[in-house]
Amino acid sequence: MAGNYSFFQNVENYFDNAAKHTDLPKGLLSQIKACNAVYSMRFPVKMGDGDYEVIEAYRVQHSHHRLPTKGGIRYSNGVNQDEVKALAALMTYKCAIVDVPFGGAKGGVRIIPKNYTEEQLEKITRRYTTELIRKNFIGPGIDVPAPDYGTGSREMSWIADTYATFHHGEIDAAACVTGKPEKQNGIKGRTEATGRGVFYALREACNYEADMEKIGLTKGIEGKTMVVQGLGNVGYHAARISIEEGGVKLIGVAEYEGSIHKADGIDIEELMAFRRKTGSIVGFPGSTTLETRESALELECDILVPAALENQITIKNADRIKAKIIGEAANGPVTYEADLILREKGVIVIPDMYINAGGVTVSYFEWLKNLSHMRFGRMEKRFNQTAYDTIGNVIENATGKRVSARDRRLLRGAEQIDLVRSGLEETMVNAYQQIREIWAANPAIEDLRTAAFVNAIEKISSDYISLGIFP
Ligand code: GLU
Repeated sequence: MAGNYSFFQNVENYFDNAAKHTDLPKGLLSQIKACNAVYSMRFPVKMGDGDYEVIEAYRVQHSHHRLPTKGGIRYSNGVNQDEVKALAALMTYKCAIVDVPFGGAKGGVRIIPKNYTEEQLEKITRRYTTELIRKNFIGPGIDVPAPDYGTGSREMSWIADTYATFHHGEIDAAACVTGKPEKQNGIKGRTEATGRGVFYALREACNYEADMEKIGLTKGIEGKTMVVQGLGNVGYHAARISIEEGGVKLIGVAEYEGSIHKADGIDIEELMAFRRKTGSIVGFPGSTTLETRESALELECDILVPAALENQITIKNADRIKAKIIGEAANGPVTYEADLILREKGVIVIPDMYINAGGVTVSYFEWLKNLSHMRFGRMEKRFNQTAYDTIGNVIENATGKRVSARDRRLLRGAEQIDLVRSGLEETMVNAYQQIREIWAANPAIEDLRTAAFVNAIEKISSDYISLGIFP
């Protein structure tokens, strides 16, 4: 426990703090807050030496107000029931904020993936899936897992295959899990989705001149300095896209093996290649190695993106944080007590349940694609292309000038990746505006996190009311 509260209690504290700003009945608030179903399991898996290992695993469905429930599966030795409950709760609020019509869930398997061979990981994943099937904890309309810390498209394909084996002939079986490989009913853009969503959110936040002025910054993301903790799927893509599309300067990186600083900017691809070669970010040419692996969090910068695990900014280091904006790309990187300190300091914290919602948003697109049994754009792409071509011809005839081949290419119909990215951008921008409006309109609402919780609580309560469960 980092501080006086467990991770789940941190989430409950945030919830209670926001609930004060609503006028909803107590019973309804308690129902929204409670975890609806917790499945804690132990199962044996035969390992290479012929002996069995008993694996500890969980699946928590936090809220059934909408079905299916949705959320990733984490493989890490930090997994425990409290953590999975907290992460499942965050999924409920996350989905509500970005209008993804799911309840929240999360799964966890307490293992260190790198200590197992691929065959052993496959065995563990398939056995875990079988346990979920046995208890009716997985299905396209029941509960739909996805990748999380320590898992990726490979694990999702094992889950999909195991599910399909047990549900032969079920036409929507592919929609039982998202984050699948592109060629196995996945969707383009899912891998980068959380990181890309982080970029859209940061860009939107920086576009509010008045908010930037309050923290001594100018409007716009271009030229802002950034520090990232964690070069996993989320951190890497968030940094890469912020640099490539936002003109951000990456000046610090923290990883498991240490942290580095480079004031004139880090080339993220070069750093990734360096790490692949040497196994570490430490010693990256031109950079200074900082004292500890957490030191980079305390660097002077405009934007800090903790994209690793929970409990990274705590009462121990919160008062040393110098960033002006914190984008919580990981789930729960700032503890409740640390958040109060950051608020005092005037830091803008863009909360996890909003800023990292890009992953589940694109998961929703994948799920819809699986249910529709058709790739996006199949019906209209050629029609649009012909229409755009005709426009090109009309312009040529009317102006007597040739529309260049390059411009003609721009007139092509949208590809799947264009649709996914534009759907994600629209979602992230819209949700930010909703939260920002709640924050700006009510001076008693202290920060964006409280505003995000208020927004989520109100949406979930109206779902409960329309279900007829609460009057
Ligand atoms: N694990 C991701 C998250 O924490 C994605 C969940 C999903 O796509 O269902 O948001």
